[in-house]
Amino acid sequence: MKILYFRKNGSLHPGIITDQGVIDVDAYRQRHSLPAFNGRPLRIDDLTILRELMVKAKDLPEFLVPEALLQVAGCVPEPPKIICIGLNYRKHALESNMPIPESPVVFSKFSNTLTDFGEAVPLGHAGQQFDYEVELGVVIGATCKNVKRENALQYVLGYCVANDLSCRDLQFKTSQWLIGKTPDKFLPLGKYLLTADEVPDPQQLELRCYRNGQIRQHSNTRDMIFSVSDIIEELSRYMTLSPGDLILTGTPEGVIMGMPEKNWLIPGDIIRTEIELLGYTENTMI
Ligand code: ZN
Repeated sequence: MKILYFRKNGSLHPGIITDQGVIDVDAYRQRHSLPAFNGRPLRIDDLTILRELMVKAKDLPEFLVPEALLQVAGCVPEPPKIICIGLNYRKHALESNMPIPESPVVFSKFSNTLTDFGEAVPLGHAGQQFDYEVELGVVIGATCKNVKRENALQYVLGYCVANDLSCRDLQFKTSQWLIGKTPDKFLPLGKYLLTADEVPDPQQLELRCYRNGQIRQHSNTRDMIFSVSDIIEELSRYMTLSPGDLILTGTPEGVIMGMPEKNWLIPGDIIRTEIELLGYTENTMI
């Protein structure tokens, strides 16, 4: 199931993408005196109800909206946490002149970095060395702590494609990467979250990134140093993971930082990231 979020009357509402159009889940629920889903993250428990709705979509024309009429937001609204893993692909660690990590490098972004789908990204004036990073995003669907890797994927609601935009001069201004990762709108997400049941293996997904139509990154999630399961086990050892938490799993080689001649992103550049099954992000830098 593909779940997106759209703006309506000042808040974000979930929609299910179907061949007939997007089901306005909250409109249907309000009509049937059920609590709306806006304002709280979806949980794995909610998916049964959403699937039932999807099956009867054809019979619900009054709740179907053409996708073109919607203002589509990022596919993860207001995540309680945005946790990022650095240097998680061997060749990217090498191109960055960094050692292969022995345990995951963990940093964070905040909700100010989210964009609507396809929204322009202001590069701002605080830094200069702007770079792209295609990444697999993982969204948690149930509260968990001290998860073992064998069970970790049970807690995943779904997956999406992301672009962990980064400002390298700010990232390496001190030992903490935070300010280089958290400028406004520096986390474009794909149009939809694909529920975990439709991703047979999160470690077998092709990823690509294009700058102005030219391919810059091309890898596969099988090259991750720490798998999605490893990451969930590691993070949940230290903190409770909650529904709606978004985990970015690192980027493969091909970023500008790793190139001999570094032509950083400039206004007008169009960056597209793609992951097999998960769609794409495409944003113009301004
Ligand atoms: Zn990253």
